[in-house]
Amino acid sequence: MIELKNITKTYRVRKRSAGMKNAFKTFFKKDYEVIKALDDISFEINEGEMVGYIGPNGAGKSTTIKIMAGILTPDSGQANISGLIPWKQRTKYVKDIGVVFGNRSGLWWDVPVDDSFELLKNIYKIPDDVYKQQKTKLVKLLDIGEIIKIPTRQLSLGQRMRCEIASAFLHKPKIVFLDEPTIGLDAVSKIAVREFIKKINKEDKTTIILTTHDTQDIEALTNRIILIGKGKILLDGKLSDLKKKFSKKYLTVEFNGDIDQLCDGLIFIEKYKGRIIIELNENILTLAKAIAFLTSKIEILDLEVDNTSVDDIVVKLYQEYGI
Ligand code: ADP
Ligand code: MG
Repeated sequence: MIELKNITKTYRVRKRSAGMKNAFKTFFKKDYEVIKALDDISFEINEGEMVGYIGPNGAGKSTTIKIMAGILTPDSGQANISGLIPWKQRTKYVKDIGVVFGNRSGLWWDVPVDDSFELLKNIYKIPDDVYKQQKTKLVKLLDIGEIIKIPTRQLSLGQRMRCEIASAFLHKPKIVFLDEPTIGLDAVSKIAVREFIKKINKEDKTTIILTTHDTQDIEALTNRIILIGKGKILLDGKLSDLKKKFSKKYLTVEFNGDIDQLCDGLIFIEKYKGRIIIELNENILTLAKAIAFLTSKIEILDLEVDNTSVDDIVVKLYQEYGI
């Protein structure tokens, strides 16, 4: 349903140099620098999937979203989304998709949000009954019944973002691109947005591609992660597999007795009399087996198990790929 193949995109930016004299020189010489934002990007996403598109700042996430949304044309490569080429068949294509950019408003600034919704209804030619039904649903799920009476400019970021998201779903798109939808939001709005995304993906089978920096978003929302760094896809897989690959368990054990040797899969991190912290590699040893081993050596008085957080996993991923 979404297929990107060998997409590349470069931006040309005028080279910056210090001083007026240099600025003039640069201006006349047309000294351009080429930035390779996307370097041979390929992936496929099936109908109904929810995918987290992650990577550090400047990795190329927004550029990919803009290309998939038909806003930008790539330098080379192909895309087939819902059977259409986004940047070529845009008029037809926009009926199938919704887009939200966390750092940009898609709503009319000076009119009540509800009026923006009406305008979108006309633009997308949404039939009365569909509009009514969908708006009622969105207003309820995002809790914006009162908020939509207020002009966009007067809303808090959290209120506005909930309205932006509603606006992207009014025409019941099959695919929605959300570029950093939770950026800068307060805790309550973040949770409201996450709950909404989860629900709409599950109930309406809306395909959702979400870019985020927020590891809690990743944890709460996505099974599949596509990692991009310096314009290249570095990894495409399940969050659960990543957890297996990168996550470690730490056992803090208070005990009676002595223990000097550990078995394969266990390493001492700290060692005191009666208290040890050990790292468990679950690829080698299960937690149950680790505990069984310890029980055979010492009398356990207390045991605590800590997991690596998704934050740690993302940091390790970035380290591993040098991005
Ligand atoms: P992300 O969303 O992952 O932070 P972007 O897709 O916005 O990354 O940017 C990818 C790269 O392209 C960055 O190096 C960025 O500076 C550059 N870039 C993005 N948009 C433009 C633009 N309009 N003009 C020039 N360079 C750009
Ligand atoms: Mg971005």
